[in-house]
Amino acid sequence: MNVQNIMTNLEVKHPGEKEFLQAVREVLESIEEVYNQHPEFEKAKIVERMVEPDRVFTFRVAWVDDNGEVQTNIGYRVQFNGAIGPYKGGLRFHKAVNLSMLKFLGFEQTFKNALTTLPMGGGKGGSDFDPVGKSDAEIMRFCQAFMWELWQNIGPDTDVPAGDVGVGGREIGYMYGMYKKLAREYNTGVLTGKGSTWGGSILRPEATGFGALYFTEHLLHKAGKDIKGLTVALSGFGNVAWGAATKATELGAKVVAISGPDGVCEIPDGITKEMIDYMLEMRASNRNKVEDMATKFPAATKFTAGKKAWSVKCDIALPCAFQNELNEADAKELIANGTWCCCEVSNMGCTPEAIHTFQSNGILFAPGKAVNAGGVATSGLEMTQNAAHLSWSAKEVDDKLHFIMESIHEACVKYGTQPDGKIDYVKGANIAGFMKVAQAMLEQGVC
Ligand code: GLU
Repeated sequence: MNVQNIMTNLEVKHPGEKEFLQAVREVLESIEEVYNQHPEFEKAKIVERMVEPDRVFTFRVAWVDDNGEVQTNIGYRVQFNGAIGPYKGGLRFHKAVNLSMLKFLGFEQTFKNALTTLPMGGGKGGSDFDPVGKSDAEIMRFCQAFMWELWQNIGPDTDVPAGDVGVGGREIGYMYGMYKKLAREYNTGVLTGKGSTWGGSILRPEATGFGALYFTEHLLHKAGKDIKGLTVALSGFGNVAWGAATKATELGAKVVAISGPDGVCEIPDGITKEMIDYMLEMRASNRNKVEDMATKFPAATKFTAGKKAWSVKCDIALPCAFQNELNEADAKELIANGTWCCCEVSNMGCTPEAIHTFQSNGILFAPGKAVNAGGVATSGLEMTQNAAHLSWSAKEVDDKLHFIMESIHEACVKYGTQPDGKIDYVKGANIAGFMKVAQAMLEQGVC
């Protein structure tokens, strides 16, 4: 394989798909060496096939807002790669959603899901619908209209959507309600992230953040460190950031900053249980302002408009919000302030330049597809419970999540250990995920 040739080809075929091309380049550069040791992959054109989605659905979503006005959005579902199982991946509702974003997420999801040890292919979907400022009734009508179009293309053994940015338990509930009506069957396995009384895994809301911290603990142990007493800055205040803040605090770390699109909220003495609970209210309000935390807890916090979490002094940085939210300048600022570890919890949270800056300065860095895989892994466990018509306790799910995150860490170490003994977690995660999908594609012939 020649990465540059493949990239040039893709750039011609998909001009302007910036995020998608960025994600593909990162994976191809890290697997190139291993790939070229397998002539059977080259012969079967595995990479050329792997960078094209199996199929993409786009559809119009028309709905009526609270003023009686008709609104039109675009809906998408990208079924990226089904070699190792049914398509699996979240739905993102955000004003910036476009095909490039969902293709990058579906591509990443394919390798992430392969890392979980569970049989799930990669998919992603969503809409350019902007939940900010929308009423609960508007969210419901949009979710219903979205599912009206999507329902025939998904199923427990076909494609299983879940949450992502802008889609949590509430949205999954509204979408499932519509699905059930259209499909005329109570098929809970068609979506994950459901309510715990109707087929949802007890731990799914916390799982991405919890899993990220379990992974971080393993990475720190491997480096001979302990998380207790370390300071953590994280971005966002949605579901993922909430789970990460909860588990980091439980493990004895101090979360000293959270951030939003409006700025950063510093919490010098560390986030408290009340503040963590308040994060949920902030998300449900659809205001998308982290300043609300500072307004609610003025004595313990300081809000600075226009600044990121990466301006705050911390040991560990945890990007938990959006792709490319941590750039080269941010990485340099973190390093100058003494940060020595960054675990990406968001998908492709760091730009390639930021990753390069971290790695060349000896900062411990791990990529999102390994760090945040606990979310989709717990979705996989939810699918298992739904298929068996039973439900597991929080402890059972948590034990399994622990085990999966440990396995993912081991796979990264196995494939990422360099001749000098250092671990390149980016390479490790990409190669481990790739090998599994490539092998399956090879065995299933040209299709
Ligand atoms: N959106 C999450 C992710 O990026 C979870 C997907 C799922 O649970 O299917 O992995």
